Amino acid sequence: MATNLSTSTKPYIGRFAPSPTGLLHFGSLVTAVASYLDAKANQGLWLVRIEDLDPPRETPGAIAEILKTLETYQLQWDGEVWHQSQRHDIYQAQIDRFISDQKAFYCTCSRKPLIRKYGHRYPGICRGTYTKPAEPSSVRLLTNDSPIGFEDGLQGHFEQHLESELGDFIIKRKDNLYAYHIAVVMDDEAQGITDIVRGLDLLDSTPRHLYLQQLLNYRTPNYVHLPLITNQLGQKLSKQTFAAPIPNDQPSHYLWTSLYALGQQPPAELKGAPPEEILFWGTEHWQLNKIPKQSSIHEANLNL
Ligand code: GLU
Ligand code: ZN
Repeated sequence: MATNLSTSTKPYIGRFAPSPTGLLHFGSLVTAVASYLDAKANQGLWLVRIEDLDPPRETPGAIAEILKTLETYQLQWDGEVWHQSQRHDIYQAQIDRFISDQKAFYCTCSRKPLIRKYGHRYPGICRGTYTKPAEPSSVRLLTNDSPIGFEDGLQGHFEQHLESELGDFIIKRKDNLYAYHIAVVMDDEAQGITDIVRGLDLLDSTPRHLYLQQLLNYRTPNYVHLPLITNQLGQKLSKQTFAAPIPNDQPSHYLWTSLYALGQQPPAELKGAPPEEILFWGTEHWQLNKIPKQSSIHEANLNL
Protein backbone atom coordinates (compact mmCIF):
# COMPACT_ATOMS: atom_id res chain seq x y z
CA MET A 1 0.00 0.00 0.00
CA ALA A 2 1.28 3.43 -0.87
CA THR A 3 2.10 5.70 2.04
CA ASN A 4 3.23 9.27 2.01
CA LEU A 5 5.78 8.79 4.76
CA SER A 6 8.46 10.17 2.50
CA THR A 7 6.91 13.65 2.51
CA SER A 8 8.29 15.53 5.50
CA THR A 9 7.49 13.50 8.60
CA LYS A 10 10.03 15.34 10.69
CA PRO A 11 8.22 16.34 13.87
CA TYR A 12 7.74 20.06 13.88
CA ILE A 13 6.60 22.24 16.76
CA GLY A 14 6.45 25.96 16.11
CA ARG A 15 5.14 28.83 18.20
CA PHE A 16 4.06 32.44 18.30
CA ALA A 17 5.14 34.23 21.45
CA PRO A 18 3.64 37.72 21.74
CA SER A 19 4.40 40.07 24.63
CA PRO A 20 1.20 41.71 25.86
CA THR A 21 2.83 45.14 25.96
CA GLY A 22 0.38 46.15 23.25
CA LEU A 23 -2.20 44.75 20.83
CA LEU A 24 -1.18 42.93 17.65
CA HIS A 25 -0.16 45.25 14.80
CA PHE A 26 0.48 44.31 11.20
CA GLY A 27 4.11 43.39 11.94
CA SER A 28 3.04 40.95 14.66
CA LEU A 29 0.40 39.50 12.33
CA VAL A 30 3.04 38.80 9.68
CA THR A 31 5.12 36.95 12.27
CA ALA A 32 2.09 35.00 13.48
CA VAL A 33 1.08 34.08 9.92
CA ALA A 34 4.60 33.05 8.86
CA SER A 35 5.15 30.86 11.93
CA TYR A 36 1.65 29.36 11.55
CA LEU A 37 2.08 28.57 7.84
CA ASP A 38 5.58 27.18 8.25
CA ALA A 39 4.25 24.87 11.00
CA LYS A 40 1.18 23.78 9.06
CA ALA A 41 3.08 23.30 5.78
CA ASN A 42 5.36 20.93 7.73
CA GLN A 43 2.41 19.06 9.29
CA GLY A 44 3.49 20.59 12.58
CA LEU A 45 1.92 21.95 15.72
CA TRP A 46 1.66 25.67 16.31
CA LEU A 47 1.67 26.83 19.94
CA VAL A 48 0.93 30.21 21.43
CA ARG A 49 2.85 31.47 24.44
CA ILE A 50 2.14 34.77 26.16
CA GLU A 51 5.40 36.41 27.21
CA ASP A 52 4.00 38.40 30.12
CA LEU A 53 7.24 38.96 32.00
CA ASP A 54 6.94 42.68 32.47
CA PRO A 55 3.63 43.64 34.16
CA PRO A 56 4.43 47.37 34.38
CA ARG A 57 4.74 47.52 30.58
CA GLU A 58 1.63 45.46 29.93
CA THR A 59 -1.42 46.97 28.29
CA PRO A 60 -4.45 46.05 30.43
CA GLY A 61 -6.64 43.61 28.57
CA ALA A 62 -4.02 42.91 25.91
CA ILE A 63 -3.77 39.17 26.56
CA ALA A 64 -7.47 38.56 25.98
CA GLU A 65 -7.46 40.87 22.96
CA ILE A 66 -4.47 39.16 21.35
CA LEU A 67 -6.08 35.74 21.73
CA LYS A 68 -9.38 37.05 20.40
CA THR A 69 -7.64 38.53 17.36
CA LEU A 70 -5.83 35.25 16.65
CA GLU A 71 -9.18 33.46 16.82
CA THR A 72 -10.86 35.99 14.56
CA TYR A 73 -8.06 35.51 12.03
CA GLN A 74 -8.55 31.74 12.32
CA LEU A 75 -5.00 31.31 13.54
CA GLN A 76 -5.89 28.32 15.65
CA TRP A 77 -3.26 27.21 18.09
CA ASP A 78 -2.66 23.70 19.33
CA GLY A 79 -2.83 22.82 23.02
CA GLU A 80 -3.07 25.22 25.93
CA VAL A 81 -1.75 28.77 25.82
CA TRP A 82 1.28 29.13 28.10
CA HIS A 83 1.86 32.22 30.22
CA GLN A 84 5.38 33.06 31.33
CA SER A 85 3.98 34.79 34.42
CA GLN A 86 3.16 31.30 35.72
CA ARG A 87 6.70 29.99 35.38
CA HIS A 88 8.66 32.23 37.71
CA ASP A 89 9.63 29.41 40.08
CA ILE A 90 11.13 27.42 37.22
CA TYR A 91 13.19 30.39 35.98
CA GLN A 92 14.29 31.21 39.53
CA ALA A 93 15.41 27.63 40.24
CA GLN A 94 17.61 27.69 37.13
CA ILE A 95 19.06 31.08 38.00
CA ASP A 96 19.92 29.75 41.47
CA ARG A 97 21.64 26.75 39.87
CA PHE A 98 23.64 29.01 37.57
CA ILE A 99 24.80 31.00 40.60
CA SER A 100 25.72 27.95 42.65
CA ASP A 101 27.61 26.58 39.61
CA GLN A 102 29.36 29.98 39.37
CA LYS A 103 28.04 30.48 35.86
CA ALA A 104 26.08 33.57 36.88
CA PHE A 105 26.72 36.28 39.44
CA TYR A 106 25.01 39.17 41.22
CA CYS A 107 25.61 42.64 39.84
CA THR A 108 24.92 45.88 41.70
CA CYS A 109 26.03 48.24 38.92
CA SER A 110 23.63 50.94 37.78
CA ARG A 111 22.74 50.97 34.14
CA LYS A 112 23.26 54.63 33.30
CA PRO A 113 26.79 55.06 34.66
CA LEU A 114 27.74 51.71 33.11
CA ILE A 115 26.58 52.82 29.68
CA ARG A 116 28.20 56.22 30.03
CA LYS A 117 31.51 54.64 30.89
CA TYR A 118 31.59 51.43 28.86
CA GLY A 119 28.81 51.66 26.25
CA HIS A 120 26.61 48.63 25.91
CA ARG A 121 29.25 46.04 26.71
CA TYR A 122 29.27 44.94 30.34
CA PRO A 123 32.94 44.73 31.36
CA GLY A 124 32.58 42.07 34.07
CA ILE A 125 32.90 44.36 37.09
CA CYS A 126 30.89 42.22 39.51
CA ARG A 127 32.18 38.82 38.36
CA GLY A 128 32.73 36.49 41.30
CA THR A 129 29.81 37.81 43.39
CA TYR A 130 27.97 34.62 44.27
CA THR A 131 26.38 35.79 47.51
CA LYS A 132 23.32 37.97 47.19
CA PRO A 133 24.31 41.52 48.18
CA ALA A 134 22.15 43.50 50.61
CA GLU A 135 21.55 46.22 48.02
CA PRO A 136 19.36 45.62 44.94
CA SER A 137 21.12 43.50 42.35
CA SER A 138 20.59 41.95 38.97
CA VAL A 139 21.90 38.53 37.93
CA ARG A 140 24.24 38.29 34.95
CA LEU A 141 25.28 35.19 33.06
CA LEU A 142 29.02 34.75 32.70
CA THR A 143 30.05 34.80 29.02
CA ASN A 144 33.15 33.77 27.16
CA ASP A 145 34.50 34.78 23.79
CA SER A 146 34.13 31.63 21.70
CA PRO A 147 32.21 32.51 18.55
CA ILE A 148 28.57 31.43 18.71
CA GLY A 149 26.99 31.09 15.31
CA PHE A 150 24.15 29.44 13.45
CA GLU A 151 22.60 29.18 10.00
CA ASP A 152 19.41 31.18 9.84
CA GLY A 153 16.83 29.77 7.43
CA LEU A 154 16.55 33.13 5.71
CA GLN A 155 19.47 35.30 6.81
CA GLY A 156 22.28 32.78 6.38
CA HIS A 157 25.18 32.55 8.81
CA PHE A 158 25.15 34.82 11.84
CA GLU A 159 27.56 34.82 14.75
CA GLN A 160 28.69 36.81 17.74
CA HIS A 161 31.47 36.80 20.31
CA LEU A 162 29.37 37.38 23.38
CA GLU A 163 32.04 38.50 25.81
CA SER A 164 33.65 41.11 23.60
CA GLU A 165 30.51 42.31 21.82
CA LEU A 166 28.08 42.29 24.74
CA GLY A 167 29.64 41.09 27.96
CA ASP A 168 27.89 39.12 30.69
CA PHE A 169 24.20 39.68 30.12
CA ILE A 170 21.27 40.06 32.49
CA ILE A 171 19.05 37.05 33.18
CA LYS A 172 17.22 38.61 36.13
CA ARG A 173 16.72 42.32 36.45
CA LYS A 174 17.30 44.50 39.49
CA ASP A 175 13.55 45.02 39.75
CA ASN A 176 13.24 41.23 40.09
CA LEU A 177 11.73 40.70 36.65
CA TYR A 178 13.04 37.72 34.69
CA ALA A 179 14.82 38.56 31.45
CA TYR A 180 13.31 37.52 28.15
CA HIS A 181 16.46 35.58 27.20
CA ILE A 182 16.27 32.98 29.95
CA ALA A 183 12.48 32.62 29.84
CA VAL A 184 12.33 32.18 26.06
CA VAL A 185 15.07 29.53 26.03
CA MET A 186 13.63 27.54 28.94
CA ASP A 187 10.11 27.66 27.54
CA ASP A 188 11.07 26.76 23.98
CA GLU A 189 12.80 23.69 25.41
CA ALA A 190 9.96 22.82 27.79
CA GLN A 191 7.44 23.06 24.95
CA GLY A 192 9.61 20.98 22.60
CA ILE A 193 9.86 23.77 20.03
CA THR A 194 11.80 22.63 16.95
CA ASP A 195 11.40 25.69 14.74
CA ILE A 196 11.35 29.38 15.61
CA VAL A 197 10.06 31.92 13.12
CA ARG A 198 10.25 35.48 14.43
CA GLY A 199 11.23 39.04 13.55
CA LEU A 200 14.68 40.15 12.50
CA ASP A 201 14.85 42.45 15.54
CA LEU A 202 15.61 39.31 17.55
CA LEU A 203 18.45 38.06 15.36
CA ASP A 204 21.08 39.59 17.61
CA SER A 205 19.50 37.98 20.68
CA THR A 206 19.82 34.53 19.15
CA PRO A 207 23.50 33.87 19.98
CA ARG A 208 22.61 34.54 23.64
CA HIS A 209 19.85 31.95 23.30
CA LEU A 210 22.25 29.46 21.70
CA TYR A 211 24.72 30.05 24.52
CA LEU A 212 22.04 29.36 27.12
CA GLN A 213 20.99 26.22 25.22
CA GLN A 214 24.60 25.01 25.28
CA LEU A 215 24.96 25.66 29.01
CA LEU A 216 21.70 23.87 29.72
CA ASN A 217 22.31 20.96 27.35
CA TYR A 218 19.23 21.79 25.32
CA ARG A 219 18.79 21.16 21.61
CA THR A 220 19.02 24.24 19.40
CA PRO A 221 15.90 24.74 17.29
CA ASN A 222 15.98 25.93 13.68
CA TYR A 223 15.65 29.68 13.35
CA VAL A 224 14.13 31.88 10.68
CA HIS A 225 14.26 35.64 11.19
CA LEU A 226 11.74 37.55 9.09
CA PRO A 227 12.16 41.00 7.56
CA LEU A 228 10.48 43.67 9.67
CA ILE A 229 7.51 45.73 8.60
CA THR A 230 8.42 49.41 8.85
CA ASN A 231 6.41 52.64 8.81
CA GLN A 232 6.85 55.86 6.80
CA LEU A 233 9.78 56.85 9.00
CA GLY A 234 11.51 53.51 8.46
CA GLN A 235 10.80 52.46 12.05
CA LYS A 236 9.73 48.93 13.01
CA LEU A 237 6.03 48.79 13.77
CA SER A 238 5.61 48.66 17.54
CA LYS A 239 3.78 50.23 20.42
CA GLN A 240 6.62 52.73 20.77
CA THR A 241 6.17 53.85 17.15
CA PHE A 242 2.38 54.04 17.59
CA ALA A 243 1.57 51.19 15.20
CA ALA A 244 -2.18 50.76 14.81
CA PRO A 245 -3.66 47.52 16.15
CA ILE A 246 -5.02 45.26 13.41
CA PRO A 247 -8.82 45.40 13.38
CA ASN A 248 -11.00 42.37 14.05
CA ASP A 249 -13.47 43.20 11.29
CA GLN A 250 -11.30 42.69 8.19
CA PRO A 251 -9.28 39.53 8.79
CA SER A 252 -9.35 38.51 5.09
CA HIS A 253 -7.80 41.73 3.93
CA TYR A 254 -5.01 41.63 6.48
CA LEU A 255 -4.32 37.93 5.96
CA TRP A 256 -4.11 38.33 2.19
CA THR A 257 -1.79 41.29 2.68
CA SER A 258 0.38 39.25 5.08
CA LEU A 259 0.85 36.59 2.40
CA TYR A 260 1.69 39.32 -0.07
CA ALA A 261 4.21 40.91 2.32
CA LEU A 262 5.77 37.48 2.80
CA GLY A 263 6.37 37.21 -0.96
CA GLN A 264 3.98 34.27 -1.38
CA GLN A 265 2.20 35.89 -4.37
CA PRO A 266 -1.39 35.16 -3.35
CA PRO A 267 -3.73 35.36 -6.35
CA ALA A 268 -5.98 38.42 -6.60
CA GLU A 269 -9.04 36.11 -6.69
CA LEU A 270 -8.21 35.05 -3.14
CA LYS A 271 -8.87 38.58 -1.90
CA GLY A 272 -11.99 38.66 0.25
CA ALA A 273 -12.11 34.88 0.73
CA PRO A 274 -12.86 33.67 4.27
CA PRO A 275 -9.82 33.67 6.58
CA GLU A 276 -9.63 29.87 6.73
CA GLU A 277 -9.47 29.70 2.93
CA ILE A 278 -6.68 32.24 2.75
CA LEU A 279 -4.73 30.33 5.37
CA PHE A 280 -5.40 27.06 3.56
CA TRP A 281 -4.09 28.53 0.30
CA GLY A 282 -1.11 29.90 2.23
CA THR A 283 -0.33 26.50 3.74
CA GLU A 284 -0.59 24.68 0.41
CA HIS A 285 1.65 27.19 -1.37
CA TRP A 286 4.04 28.07 1.45
CA GLN A 287 7.58 28.65 0.25
CA LEU A 288 10.02 30.00 2.78
CA ASN A 289 12.51 30.94 0.08
CA LYS A 290 10.04 33.39 -1.46
CA ILE A 291 10.16 35.63 1.61
CA PRO A 292 11.93 38.86 0.61
CA LYS A 293 15.61 38.86 1.52
CA GLN A 294 15.68 42.52 2.47
CA SER A 295 15.75 43.47 6.14
CA SER A 296 12.56 45.50 6.09
CA ILE A 297 9.32 45.87 4.18
CA HIS A 298 7.79 49.30 3.99
CA GLU A 299 4.12 49.25 4.97
CA ALA A 300 3.48 51.98 2.39
CA ASN A 301 4.10 49.34 -0.32
CA LEU A 302 1.42 47.08 1.06
CA ASN A 303 -1.86 48.89 0.56
CA LEU A 304 -2.90 48.33 4.18
N1 GLU B 1 7.94 38.02 23.00
C1 GLU B 1 8.81 38.48 21.94
C2 GLU B 1 8.19 39.67 21.24
O1 GLU B 1 6.99 39.84 21.30
C3 GLU B 1 9.05 37.44 20.88
C4 GLU B 1 9.86 36.34 21.38
C5 GLU B 1 10.29 35.32 20.36
O2 GLU B 1 9.62 35.11 19.34
O3 GLU B 1 11.31 34.70 20.62
O4 GLU B 1 8.92 40.44 20.65
ZN1 ZN C 1 28.12 44.89 38.02
